[in-house]
Amino acid sequence: MFNIIFIGAPGVGKGTQSAFIEKDYSIAHIATGDMLRKNIEDGTELGKTAKSYMDKGELVPDSLVIDMLNERIQKDDCKNGFMLDGFPRTMEQAKELDKILAKLNHKIDAIIDIYASDEIIIKRLLNRGRADDNEETIKNRIKVFESQSKPVLDFYKDKVKIIKIESVGTPEEVYAKIKKELDLIKK
Ligand code: ADP
Repeated sequence: MFNIIFIGAPGVGKGTQSAFIEKDYSIAHIATGDMLRKNIEDGTELGKTAKSYMDKGELVPDSLVIDMLNERIQKDDCKNGFMLDGFPRTMEQAKELDKILAKLNHKIDAIIDIYASDEIIIKRLLNRGRADDNEETIKNRIKVFESQSKPVLDFYKDKVKIIKIESVGTPEEVYAKIKKELDLIKK
Protein backbone atom coordinates (compact mmCIF):
# COMPACT_ATOMS: atom_id res chain seq x y z
CA MET A 1 0.00 0.00 0.00
CA PHE A 2 1.10 3.54 -0.69
CA ASN A 3 -0.86 6.26 1.09
CA ILE A 4 -0.42 9.98 0.59
CA ILE A 5 -2.03 13.14 1.90
CA PHE A 6 -2.01 16.34 -0.13
CA ILE A 7 -2.15 19.56 1.87
CA GLY A 8 -2.30 22.89 0.09
CA ALA A 9 -4.35 26.04 -0.37
CA PRO A 10 -7.28 26.13 -2.79
CA GLY A 11 -6.12 26.50 -6.38
CA VAL A 12 -2.57 25.42 -5.69
CA GLY A 13 -2.85 22.46 -8.06
CA LYS A 14 -3.71 19.48 -5.85
CA GLY A 15 -6.28 18.14 -8.30
CA THR A 16 -3.96 18.43 -11.30
CA GLN A 17 -1.07 16.75 -9.53
CA SER A 18 -3.31 14.05 -8.06
CA ALA A 19 -4.29 12.98 -11.57
CA PHE A 20 -0.63 12.33 -12.45
CA ILE A 21 -0.04 10.41 -9.23
CA GLU A 22 -3.19 8.35 -9.60
CA LYS A 23 -2.01 7.17 -13.00
CA ASP A 24 1.65 6.50 -12.14
CA TYR A 25 1.14 4.80 -8.79
CA SER A 26 -2.30 3.21 -9.36
CA ILE A 27 -3.76 4.50 -6.12
CA ALA A 28 -7.24 5.87 -5.51
CA HIS A 29 -7.71 9.64 -5.68
CA ILE A 30 -10.04 10.68 -2.88
CA ALA A 31 -11.05 14.33 -3.23
CA THR A 32 -13.60 15.30 -0.59
CA GLY A 33 -14.54 18.46 -2.53
CA ASP A 34 -15.39 16.35 -5.61
CA MET A 35 -17.40 13.94 -3.47
CA LEU A 36 -19.37 16.80 -1.93
CA ARG A 37 -20.05 18.35 -5.36
CA LYS A 38 -21.32 14.96 -6.56
CA ASN A 39 -23.70 14.90 -3.59
CA ILE A 40 -24.96 18.37 -4.52
CA GLU A 41 -25.47 17.24 -8.12
CA ASP A 42 -27.37 14.15 -6.95
CA GLY A 43 -29.51 16.21 -4.58
CA THR A 44 -28.69 14.14 -1.48
CA GLU A 45 -29.31 15.39 2.07
CA LEU A 46 -25.54 15.68 2.54
CA GLY A 47 -25.32 17.70 -0.67
CA LYS A 48 -28.04 20.10 0.46
CA THR A 49 -26.32 20.75 3.77
CA ALA A 50 -22.85 20.98 2.23
CA LYS A 51 -23.88 23.49 -0.43
CA SER A 52 -24.74 26.23 2.05
CA TYR A 53 -21.21 26.07 3.47
CA MET A 54 -19.38 25.61 0.17
CA ASP A 55 -21.08 28.60 -1.46
CA LYS A 56 -19.61 30.82 1.26
CA GLY A 57 -16.19 29.20 1.20
CA GLU A 58 -16.72 27.80 4.70
CA LEU A 59 -15.84 24.26 5.71
CA VAL A 60 -18.55 21.62 5.80
CA PRO A 61 -19.01 20.34 9.42
CA ASP A 62 -16.36 17.79 10.45
CA SER A 63 -18.74 14.98 11.37
CA LEU A 64 -20.30 14.92 7.88
CA VAL A 65 -16.99 14.88 6.03
CA ILE A 66 -15.43 12.33 8.41
CA ASP A 67 -18.30 9.86 7.92
CA MET A 68 -18.10 10.31 4.15
CA LEU A 69 -14.32 9.71 4.17
CA ASN A 70 -14.54 6.71 6.50
CA GLU A 71 -16.88 4.97 4.10
CA ARG A 72 -14.89 5.90 1.01
CA ILE A 73 -11.50 4.78 2.29
CA GLN A 74 -12.76 1.23 2.79
CA LYS A 75 -13.76 0.76 -0.84
CA ASP A 76 -12.01 -1.86 -2.99
CA ASP A 77 -10.14 0.60 -5.17
CA CYS A 78 -8.08 1.69 -2.13
CA LYS A 79 -6.40 -1.73 -1.86
CA ASN A 80 -3.23 -0.46 -3.54
CA GLY A 81 -3.30 2.75 -1.57
CA PHE A 82 -4.93 6.16 -1.67
CA MET A 83 -4.23 9.82 -1.97
CA LEU A 84 -6.29 12.21 0.12
CA ASP A 85 -6.93 15.54 -1.58
CA GLY A 86 -8.75 18.08 0.59
CA PHE A 87 -8.80 15.91 3.73
CA PRO A 88 -7.92 16.29 6.59
CA ARG A 89 -8.64 20.01 6.61
CA THR A 90 -9.04 20.55 10.36
CA MET A 91 -7.28 19.21 13.46
CA GLU A 92 -10.43 17.29 14.36
CA GLN A 93 -10.39 15.58 10.94
CA ALA A 94 -6.69 14.73 11.34
CA LYS A 95 -7.27 13.14 14.75
CA GLU A 96 -10.26 11.15 13.51
CA LEU A 97 -8.30 10.01 10.45
CA ASP A 98 -5.64 8.61 12.78
CA LYS A 99 -8.30 6.50 14.49
CA ILE A 100 -9.81 5.33 11.20
CA LEU A 101 -6.40 4.31 9.84
CA ALA A 102 -5.40 2.54 13.08
CA LYS A 103 -8.55 0.44 12.90
CA LEU A 104 -7.81 -0.53 9.30
CA ASN A 105 -4.13 -1.08 10.08
CA HIS A 106 -3.04 1.48 7.49
CA LYS A 107 -0.49 4.26 7.75
CA ILE A 108 0.35 7.43 5.85
CA ASP A 109 3.63 7.18 3.91
CA ALA A 110 4.03 10.83 2.94
CA ILE A 111 2.45 14.24 3.05
CA ILE A 112 2.83 16.59 0.12
CA ASP A 113 2.80 20.20 1.30
CA ILE A 114 2.21 22.10 -1.93
CA TYR A 115 2.30 25.89 -1.94
CA ALA A 116 2.28 29.00 -4.14
CA SER A 117 1.78 32.73 -3.59
CA ASP A 118 -1.76 34.09 -3.04
CA GLU A 119 -1.39 36.02 -6.28
CA ILE A 120 -0.81 32.87 -8.35
CA ILE A 121 -3.57 30.99 -6.53
CA ILE A 122 -6.20 33.68 -7.05
CA LYS A 123 -5.32 33.98 -10.73
CA ARG A 124 -5.62 30.20 -11.26
CA LEU A 125 -8.95 29.99 -9.43
CA LEU A 126 -10.52 32.89 -11.31
CA ASN A 127 -9.49 31.20 -14.56
CA ARG A 128 -11.02 27.88 -13.49
CA GLY A 129 -14.41 29.46 -12.73
CA ARG A 130 -16.12 26.81 -10.58
CA ALA A 131 -19.31 27.86 -8.73
CA ASP A 132 -17.30 28.80 -5.63
CA ASP A 133 -14.50 30.49 -7.60
CA ASN A 134 -15.57 34.12 -7.20
CA GLU A 135 -13.24 36.61 -5.59
CA GLU A 136 -15.04 36.91 -2.27
CA THR A 137 -15.40 33.16 -1.71
CA ILE A 138 -11.80 32.54 -2.82
CA LYS A 139 -10.49 35.06 -0.27
CA ASN A 140 -12.47 33.34 2.46
CA ARG A 141 -11.23 29.88 1.41
CA ILE A 142 -7.62 31.09 1.58
CA LYS A 143 -8.29 32.55 5.05
CA VAL A 144 -9.92 29.32 6.21
CA PHE A 145 -6.95 27.35 4.86
CA GLU A 146 -4.47 29.51 6.79
CA SER A 147 -6.36 29.33 10.07
CA GLN A 148 -7.79 25.79 10.06
CA SER A 149 -5.83 23.62 7.62
CA LYS A 150 -2.24 24.80 8.05
CA PRO A 151 -2.13 23.62 11.70
CA VAL A 152 -2.73 20.11 10.36
CA LEU A 153 0.83 20.18 8.95
CA ASP A 154 2.17 20.71 12.46
CA PHE A 155 0.15 17.75 13.67
CA TYR A 156 2.05 15.48 11.25
CA LYS A 157 5.46 17.17 11.52
CA ASP A 158 7.14 14.55 13.70
CA LYS A 159 5.11 11.57 12.54
CA VAL A 160 5.19 11.49 8.76
CA LYS A 161 7.67 12.50 6.06
CA ILE A 162 6.57 15.88 4.67
CA ILE A 163 7.52 16.75 1.09
CA LYS A 164 7.45 20.50 0.49
CA ILE A 165 6.86 21.49 -3.13
CA GLU A 166 6.53 24.94 -4.66
CA SER A 167 3.82 24.85 -7.31
CA VAL A 168 5.39 27.07 -9.96
CA GLY A 169 6.07 26.21 -13.59
CA THR A 170 4.05 23.88 -15.79
CA PRO A 171 2.03 21.04 -14.22
CA GLU A 172 4.60 18.60 -15.68
CA GLU A 173 7.50 20.48 -14.08
CA VAL A 174 5.78 20.48 -10.70
CA TYR A 175 4.97 16.79 -11.04
CA ALA A 176 8.59 15.91 -11.87
CA LYS A 177 9.60 17.36 -8.48
CA ILE A 178 6.88 15.43 -6.68
CA LYS A 179 7.64 12.15 -8.42
CA LYS A 180 11.34 12.35 -7.57
CA GLU A 181 10.50 12.65 -3.87
CA LEU A 182 7.79 10.00 -3.90
CA ASP A 183 10.07 7.48 -5.62
CA LEU A 184 12.63 7.94 -2.85
CA ILE A 185 9.98 7.02 -0.31
CA LYS A 186 8.37 4.20 -2.27
CA LYS A 187 11.72 2.66 -3.37
P1 ADP B 1 -10.43 23.98 -3.01
O1 ADP B 1 -9.31 23.26 -2.35
O2 ADP B 1 -10.08 24.57 -4.34
O3 ADP B 1 -11.13 24.96 -2.13
P2 ADP B 1 -12.15 21.60 -2.81
O4 ADP B 1 -12.88 20.95 -3.92
O5 ADP B 1 -11.10 20.79 -2.11
O6 ADP B 1 -11.54 22.91 -3.44
O7 ADP B 1 -13.18 22.12 -1.70
C1 ADP B 1 -14.28 22.90 -2.01
C2 ADP B 1 -15.15 23.12 -0.77
O8 ADP B 1 -15.64 21.85 -0.30
C3 ADP B 1 -14.44 23.73 0.44
O9 ADP B 1 -14.40 25.12 0.39
C4 ADP B 1 -15.31 23.20 1.59
O10 ADP B 1 -16.50 23.95 1.72
C5 ADP B 1 -15.71 21.82 1.12
N1 ADP B 1 -14.79 20.77 1.62
C6 ADP B 1 -13.99 19.96 0.87
N2 ADP B 1 -13.27 19.12 1.65
C7 ADP B 1 -13.61 19.41 2.93
C8 ADP B 1 -13.21 18.92 4.21
N3 ADP B 1 -12.28 17.96 4.33
N4 ADP B 1 -13.80 19.47 5.31
C9 ADP B 1 -14.72 20.43 5.22
N5 ADP B 1 -15.13 20.94 4.07
C10 ADP B 1 -14.60 20.45 2.92
